[in-house]
Amino acid sequence: MNQIEKKLKFALYGYQYIDYSIAENLNFQRCLQLLSNHRRYKTEPIAQSEVIRISEKIFYDYFPNLNREVLHLPVEEINAICKTLPELDQFIALLNQEARYMDIYQLPIVYSEGLSMDGKINKLLIDTPHIEILNQARVIFSSIELGTKIDYLSVITHVHEVIHGLLERNKGSVKNYLNTELLSNFMEKAAALSMGEDWLKLAISNRLFDLEEKKNKIEFGSLTLDEIESYQYLYSGFLAEFLFDIYQKGSLFLQKQIIREISKILKGDLILEDFLESKEISYYNDDIVKCLKKTIEEKTIKL
Ligand SMILES: [Zn+2]
Repeated sequence: MNQIEKKLKFALYGYQYIDYSIAENLNFQRCLQLLSNHRRYKTEPIAQSEVIRISEKIFYDYFPNLNREVLHLPVEEINAICKTLPELDQFIALLNQEARYMDIYQLPIVYSEGLSMDGKINKLLIDTPHIEILNQARVIFSSIELGTKIDYLSVITHVHEVIHGLLERNKGSVKNYLNTELLSNFMEKAAALSMGEDWLKLAISNRLFDLEEKKNKIEFGSLTLDEIESYQYLYSGFLAEFLFDIYQKGSLFLQKQIIREISKILKGDLILEDFLESKEISYYNDDIVKCLKKTIEEKTIKL
């Protein structure tokens, strides 16, 4: 993705900056060094319909009162609008007009070749150098995509994608583009924890394996635009482990407070970065390295 495309994505989703200083941050480098010899673990298959049912139950237990509506348009309708060959501003006006609110748990699920921790939420990307047109575009989702290997980890992946959708529906809820994966990553662990400690270990072990793969894709000391996607997972990933550790060992009062704040972020009433600052979740806090070390020692699967 080139610089201009990146800027466009920023305008469409309301991001404001990328923390370019991260490549030189010592605590980030220390976290990277802790990633070695992780493995991927598999679990027993379950029925597709069970995935959504369990995901919804877990989500409801954490956020019983949260409005879950997102804007939706089926791919076929988007294609039909495209076929009329409208001008871009007209196209966006039509999309904004046709899109309808839908409970994110009603979004169509599509499956593509992949593992149970592979997933994404499909949304409309509009390609134009005109920022003012992009600013008018609303964020419209078409479906949630899951890997064809369906097992209990697919539940966690579904929760992860639901959080992406609810976060991205409110443009500007996340300022630093590198933080995009943080809440999804945190809630996948929270979801695993409510399934049991063993599932948490499995989720953390697989996530660390995934991060190690991302680490091997980046060059040390530089932050080219091509590498930003990998950085995004690593940057968000370590911060999510840090936040989750504080959550898990915290009092019931603190746990409830963290979930309440996350719910405010998902409603568009609080900016993620302000929440992180209030909890001192950052790479300038040396505890992040100790926390990751402890997580690797105590919360991963040992053979
Ligand atoms: Zn994600």
